[in-house]
Parts: sequence; structure tokens; C-alpha cells
Amino acid sequence: MKFNSHDELVNTSKEAQKKWRLIPAPKRGEIIREFGNELRNQKADLARVITKEARKIVSEAEGEVQEAIDMCDFATGLSRQLYGLTMPSERPDHRLQELWQPLGIVGCITAFNFPMAVFAWNFCLASVCGNSIIWKPSPHATGCADAIKKIWDKVAGDHKELVLILNGGNEEAIALCKNSNIPLISATGSTQMGKELAPLVSARLGRTLLELGGNNAAIVCSTADLDLTVKGVTFSAAGTTGQRCTTLRRAFVHADIYEEFMEKLYAYYATLKIGDPSDATSQLGPLISEKSFNDMQNVLISLKEKDVKIHGGQRFEVSDPKEFYVMPAIVEVDKVEDEMLAETFAPILYVKKFTELKDAIHMQNNVKQGLSSSIFTNDFRESELFLSSEGSDCGIANVNIGTSGAEIGGAFGGEKETGGGRESGSDAWKNYMRRVTATVNYGKDLPLAQGVEFDES
Ligand code: NAD
Repeated sequence: MKFNSHDELVNTSKEAQKKWRLIPAPKRGEIIREFGNELRNQKADLARVITKEARKIVSEAEGEVQEAIDMCDFATGLSRQLYGLTMPSERPDHRLQELWQPLGIVGCITAFNFPMAVFAWNFCLASVCGNSIIWKPSPHATGCADAIKKIWDKVAGDHKELVLILNGGNEEAIALCKNSNIPLISATGSTQMGKELAPLVSARLGRTLLELGGNNAAIVCSTADLDLTVKGVTFSAAGTTGQRCTTLRRAFVHADIYEEFMEKLYAYYATLKIGDPSDATSQLGPLISEKSFNDMQNVLISLKEKDVKIHGGQRFEVSDPKEFYVMPAIVEVDKVEDEMLAETFAPILYVKKFTELKDAIHMQNNVKQGLSSSIFTNDFRESELFLSSEGSDCGIANVNIGTSGAEIGGAFGGEKETGGGRESGSDAWKNYMRRVTATVNYGKDLPLAQGVEFDES
């Protein structure tokens, strides 16, 4: 679908939404179920497109399509559960009720590393709630967006325009953010992107739903099951070649088990299979770009000048010289280095010893981002402290699981510079609707709230 102007694109989306919002929500849900069924039918093909563009290994690419399918199932059920509360009115013969109405158009800006799932988080909820969507995918993953759009067009009947794709870079994203016909901008990507785009939306008092960068940590306590922990840490830190927002970047390990843990961790890292992500035996594919590789190397160069122990991190040569495969890096530090405070979107895991849990929790929280966190322990007092208000300050807090690999049923997102947004499960659907508080008087008098008297007669 080609548009002559940005306005034409937005108007088409607006008209599509006007038609769609008239369909009862459970009927919208049925169309989303059809969409999910078609994703199921084409799961392997879609996963291949993800592997080709985002360079994810086969299993993770299939997992991503599964996540989109799960979202369709979730949204189909949700379409019958867009509940509003009814409150007792203080006035006789009055009813007080909350109604949820669609917002209109949702502008959806997505990152390269979850090129289908993040769209599904947004679209599945937004659509059953009665909205249309304009999707600006990452320039690295336009083929993923095209493949999804084709599937939508196949099941959408008269509602093909409910999903419109806006390919491009910063300029296109900025145009969406400035357009006051788009009540909600849902943007996933770096914190820098969020800082640039959010003011454009708030300048017109629009809403944002921000899913930005993370700097996630795990705390490994002295009672932890070390074999389980090493697997959880490795999947989170090295898996997806360190290119998940929830990637584990910092591990705080209790001094009593530090040596044993590190020995097991190095041994497990040594077994990782790096190579062509379309080969089903590969566990780690390449970085997305030369820029990502250079960013990683620059951080490692700066660390080399410090008193740290670096293992791995170098380029891993494979047949295609244009691809940037790397050995995942482990950096053992004695103190918190500046490099640990930023998100480098590559597989660098910093490891530091601790003796007091409260110090480890402090170090974990003492960064600008607040997405995901984990504790590995068999002591319930430690895990409960971690989950308490004195514990993790992140949107995701896990016990005996790594920081990455969330299920769709929970609300996903993080605090501080991660942006505060929540998408996917739980009641995240409320972000895509406007709340109307309705008071209905079915009596013959007009009593005023709070006992206010106006008409004396
Ligand atoms: P990115 O910020 O480079 O790009 C994300 C999207 O924003 C793209 O569509 C891009 O075109 C657009 N964009 C980027 N900068 C822009 C600007 N200045 N003006 C207008 N548009 C802009 O991110 P990426 O490299 O594609 O993805 C990696 C980042 O995304 C990491 O920081 C990662 O943590 C984050 N991420 C967060 C989540 C989450 O749910 N919190 C999920 C996935 C990725």
C-alpha cells in the first residue's frame, strides 16, 4: 500500500479505526484468533525471516513467532474481558460506572531485536480494544513487518488498513510522534530514542508507552544451586548474542561460592556454539551490525586500561567476513566500573563479588535503568527481601531464573530510564483505551454530589 503523504496514511488509518471500533470486541477477537492461526500455519517461514534479518538462532526465532501466537490467544480471550468497574453511587437512583473506549490510532515504533513479538504485544491488545495501528519497524527488519502484514491482509477481510506499515528511519518516527491525530505512541528501543521522541509526544499532550533500554543484574547467593544458576546466567548473558533488552549485563556473586561459580561459568561458556544462526546447532549468531561490534570493542578497549580481568570478547571468524560474530565476554571487576552503568547492546557480562545481600541489591539498583533482575538462592528470606520494597527496583524480578525470557501473561516493562511502560499481559490492555466514568441518574430528582445545594425551591 503506497501513500502520497503522511496525512494520507494517517487518514487511512483513522477511517479504518472508525469502521473497526463498531465491531463488538468479541468479534474483533475472532479475527485476531484467525490471525494467530495463520501465524501458527506459517511459524517456520516467519521464523526464517527473523533469522535472516535479526540474525536470531532458529529456536529463538521460532520462540518469537510463538510469542506472537500466544499474544493472539491472549487477546482473543481478552476481547470478552475488557471489564469496567461499577461503583456504588452516593446518590439515590444513580449508577456509577467505568467504561473503556478505544483511543483511535496507535503509533508503534519497534526495535530490531524483537521484530515480530513487540508488534504482536501492541497490535493484539490495541486491536481487540478497537484501535488501528501504524507500525514503523526497525530499518533492520522491514521484511519481518512485510511478512506480518501479508498475513494480516489474508485474514482481515474489509479491515486490511487496520495495520499500516511506515518504513523508514528517524524522520518517519518523528512524524508519527508529532501527529496529534495519533493519541498513543508506543515506542520500543534505546533510552536515547525514548528521550528524543517522548518530548515530541508530550509537547502535544499525547500519550506514550515506552519500552527502552535495560541494564539488568543477577544476584547469586551462597545457597544457590550453581548448576542451575550457571545455565540461567549463561542463557541470559550470552544468549541472543547479548541483544535482548533483558540481557543479563551484571552478576553479583557471593564471596563464599565465587571461585566455584566462576569455574563452572567459564566451563559452560566454553561449550557455546557460535555460528550461522540458521544452522539448528548454533547457540549464538552474529551481532546485528558492524556498529554494534565497534561499540562492544570500544567498551572492551576502555576496560583494558583498568584493573579488570577480561575473558573472550574478540571477533569470532566464520565464513562470511561481512558478519560480526563475537566470543561472549566475561569481565571480572573488583569495583563498579563506569562501563557497567551503561547498556552496551552486546554480550559483555560484568561479574563482581559481594558479601552482604543488601550491598548487592544496592549495586543492582544503582543504575539509571530498571528493567529486569534476578536472584539465585535457596534461602526464602533472601528471595523475599529481593521481592520486597527494599529489594529490586525493576519492573521484572525473578527468583532462580535468569533476567531474560519473559512469558506473555505478565505485564512487561521497566522503571526509570527503561521508560515505565507495560505491555503484553495482565492489565496492560488499559494503556490502549480511554477510561470513561459514567454517572447515570434513573430517578426523578437531581441530587448533587457531596450534598451540594443549588436550587433552593
Ligand atoms: P533503536 O533505538 O536504535 O531503534 C528503535 C526504533 O526507534 C527504530 O524503529 C528506529 O528507527 C527508531 N529510532 C531510533 N532512534 C531514533 C531517533 N533518534 N528518532 C526517531 N526514531 C528513532 O534501538 P535498536 O537498536 O533497534 O534496539 C535495541 C534497543 O532497544 C536496546 O536499547 C534495547 O534495550 C531496546 N529494547 C527495549 C525493549 C523493551 O521492551 N524495553 C525491547 C526491545 C529492545
